[in-house]
Amino acid sequence: MSQIVKPDFIQEYVSLKPHNSFRFDATARFYGQITHLYQLDLAVKWANANRVSICMLGEGSNLLLTGDLDALVLINNLKGIALSRSENFAELTVSAGESWHQVVTYAVDNSFAGIENLALIPGSAGAAPVQNIGAYGVEVKDTLARVQVFDRSSGELLWIDAKECGFAYRDSHFKGIWADKYFITAICLKLNLDCQVKVSYGGLAEGLPSQPSIKQVFDRVCEVRTAKLPDLKMIGNAGSFFKNPIVTNDEYQKIHQSYPDLVAFAFEGRWKLAAGWMIDKAGWKGVSQDGVGVYEKQALCLVNHSTDRADSLLKLEQDIKLDIKQKFGVVLEREPVQLGKVPLI
Ligand SMILES: Cc1cc2nc3c(=O)[nH]c(=O)nc-3n(C[C@H](O)[C@H](O)[C@H](O)COP(=O)(O)OP(=O)(O)OC[C@H]3O[C@@H](n4cnc5c(N)ncnc54)[C@H](O)[C@@H]3O)c2cc1C
Repeated sequence: MSQIVKPDFIQEYVSLKPHNSFRFDATARFYGQITHLYQLDLAVKWANANRVSICMLGEGSNLLLTGDLDALVLINNLKGIALSRSENFAELTVSAGESWHQVVTYAVDNSFAGIENLALIPGSAGAAPVQNIGAYGVEVKDTLARVQVFDRSSGELLWIDAKECGFAYRDSHFKGIWADKYFITAICLKLNLDCQVKVSYGGLAEGLPSQPSIKQVFDRVCEVRTAKLPDLKMIGNAGSFFKNPIVTNDEYQKIHQSYPDLVAFAFEGRWKLAAGWMIDKAGWKGVSQDGVGVYEKQALCLVNHSTDRADSLLKLEQDIKLDIKQKFGVVLEREPVQLGKVPLI
């Protein structure tokens, strides 16, 4: 180890069970909560000097922990929301450790439009750009102006324009080429003051007036999500476990011939297939095996009923993927980020 002393707030051998929504158990060799930027600087300097790899987490709601982490795990707890207004827009600068849903609530309470469809998505504001969170026809990239990052090698803080971040469906450079380069420390959202809302997706308009308010859309999203998704306090899960596969028109037509009731949406010149529909059609909804299962109200959501290890979930994932490939000819891709060694299943 180098001469740089380990900062006091870094602990050793800490369980990550409270830090992932699947509630799998895995131990972090080193662990620290970051509440101030200077701590991030100290922690990264110490880890770099000692060749300890680093991983930053928010609330662990998009994680699949498959084993212990021989790394420094930093929990981003940077807090604060700053508001600036122009004639047509409100700009919210949000520290990465704020709860995303609280940010949405703040925007809705102040009649700022643009993120009400993203209500009740668990997790931190700083993780929102990582997979470009999305729901009900809206993605965070639609209102994101820029992202503040900490450069892990230079220790510099810089703002990156949202257009540079490589946003795509459940994807960004933060998940890819920048995964080992930057930590997100804040985001800046540009929200509308004109109260325009988007309700054309996924039956959201049902039960709403023809020109709903921002608050009405927010309430409807909360209602639909609460009815459909498991309560994280009761059942471990990471929301959608698979991405909706995107296929060409020819591929879509072929599957549609065999399954005329196939649920799919036109998407940027191709088709986005409803993975949940395929999993349900294949008979997996509600199935339980070895302490894990497929949620009975939403087939896209895999759940942890009673196990500490991810092995049985990986087995279930493998079984579902194989079955969907055989029945529909489609390869499902996992959405949550895997951390830890891959156990043999
Ligand atoms: C019940 C449920 C419903 C969900 N619904 C949706 C949905 O509708 N739409 C959707 O898109 N997602 C959904 N998700 C997934 C999840 O909520 C989001 O991906 C969320 O943004 C994850 O935030 P987090 O703070 O928990 O990130 P974590 O799980 O802690 O981290 C996820 C990834 O981001 C990285 N990361 C986290 N913070 C930072 C940072 N500050 N800087 C750099 N990298 C960072 C981590 O290293 C990891 O790779 C759902 C999850 C659950 C459990």
